[in-house]
Amino acid sequence: MAEPHAAPSGPRPIVPYLKIPADGPPYLEGQKCRSCGAIFLGERDTCSSCGTRGQFEAIRLAGRGELYVYSIVHRSFPGIEVPYVSAIVDLDGGGTVKGTLIGIDPDPDAIRMGMPVEVVYEIAPRKDAEGNEYLTYGFKPRA
Ligand SMILES: [Zn+2]
Repeated sequence: MAEPHAAPSGPRPIVPYLKIPADGPPYLEGQKCRSCGAIFLGERDTCSSCGTRGQFEAIRLAGRGELYVYSIVHRSFPGIEVPYVSAIVDLDGGGTVKGTLIGIDPDPDAIRMGMPVEVVYEIAPRKDAEGNEYLTYGFKPRA
């Protein structure tokens, strides 16, 4: 949803479920089904787990999780540096998020399923046509 009176300074979230509070660090927001507890990213009306409608509440997702699965991407759109690691992470407490895994060699010998990761935030390398900066997120290994 567009915000005509968004703050003039500061990056904008690259996806709607990335929240940037005025007074704290960014975080990812999930939608939790009040009926069955399933957690999704992004707005939705019907729970794809139990079928209940209109019973979601917004929750703040954890900044840590475990690598569920990944793939090493060797070909992408022009201008996107390859190879990179596309990862799916299960966040602590629920929520499954896709993003780029950084801070590790794009090498199957270096990456293992279930490895602990944390969510990191950075300014996207490109601005939009109007010069706006965007905040994006990814994952990096944690000890
Ligand atoms: Zn549900």
